[in-house]
Amino acid sequence: MHRSYQKWVAVLGFVLALYSNGFAQTKPNIVVLATGGTIAGAAATGAQSSYTSGKVTIDDMLNSVPGIRDLANLKGEQVANVGSQDMSFEILLKLAKRINELLATNDVDGIVITHGTDTLEESAFFLNLTVKSDKPVVMVGSMRPSTAISADGPLNLYDAVSVAADPNAKGRGVLVVMNDWIQGAHSLTKTSTTAVQTFMSPLRGVVGISAYGKNTYYNNPTWKHTAASEFDVSGVTALPRVDIVFADVDMPPDLIDCSVRNGAKGIVIAGVGNGNMNKAAIDAAARAVKQGVVVVRSSRVATGTVGRNVEIKDDELGFIASDELNPQKARILLSLALLKPHTPEQLQELFGTY
Ligand code: ASP
Repeated sequence: MHRSYQKWVAVLGFVLALYSNGFAQTKPNIVVLATGGTIAGAAATGAQSSYTSGKVTIDDMLNSVPGIRDLANLKGEQVANVGSQDMSFEILLKLAKRINELLATNDVDGIVITHGTDTLEESAFFLNLTVKSDKPVVMVGSMRPSTAISADGPLNLYDAVSVAADPNAKGRGVLVVMNDWIQGAHSLTKTSTTAVQTFMSPLRGVVGISAYGKNTYYNNPTWKHTAASEFDVSGVTALPRVDIVFADVDMPPDLIDCSVRNGAKGIVIAGVGNGNMNKAAIDAAARAVKQGVVVVRSSRVATGTVGRNVEIKDDELGFIASDELNPQKARILLSLALLKPHTPEQLQELFGTY
């Protein structure tokens, strides 16, 4: 009797072990790479606007979100801990290389990156061009620090993990999940300095919705990204200097000359309207082109495309039109493009492709 009791306990133990192991195996493996930002920020009280970014570690962040470990097997890694105003190409190159290394293995199904919102769109676009995998790569931030009343970080992080763990998120390029919305790296931009619904994709709309971890997708990016991208940063340690020059009423053209003198290989004009600038600035930009600097015309306007030869004779002056890319994303694409020689026609083609 006693022996058969022992046998049944052993069998039950074995079955339970198999069950829990099988359960663990059915959950996707997600690595959360932390870089800092308000989502990791802390303040002295819950109701104050001043705080410090990048104070909370990734393990503390994950431990503070109820139920998040039911979505996936999670592993946190601290890549940096900065406010994204201090994001650098050095950190971005490190991040891209680490993501490529992780996603090349069969052990990792998706990546979440916690990031400040100030430059999130640039980092997302950089990774959209340099990650070499179709597996989900999801970025997330928050507008309120972790200590705030109604902090938005925990639910954003929960939703981001659910998207990274979702096979339906594959092949859509780098995604950003915040305040229920799933948006594409190519199209989103920060539109409010303080509101939680800060990210919008004015031309393309949202990719989908994430509601407490239940995800619905509405569209797929039609431009090139990630696995299909030609940009390879595996051996790259620095990027060529590309400056953004802001155009406005009576702008001084010597800002452009100054960029050239200081070694810029490319200049993006945050132009007025359809990428316009005054006559003196056009002359300075044309001088820059003659010295071998690539000039891209983008726009300081929140939405719309910049087209070739609309009011400025691009064919004659050798300028590139940014198409859908805002100045900060045009700068990212141009920085990567300048790693290799391209003709003006090839550069223009890139702006219509990525
Ligand atoms: N300055 C912060 C950052 O970008 C703002 C934020 O995360 O919302 O890191």
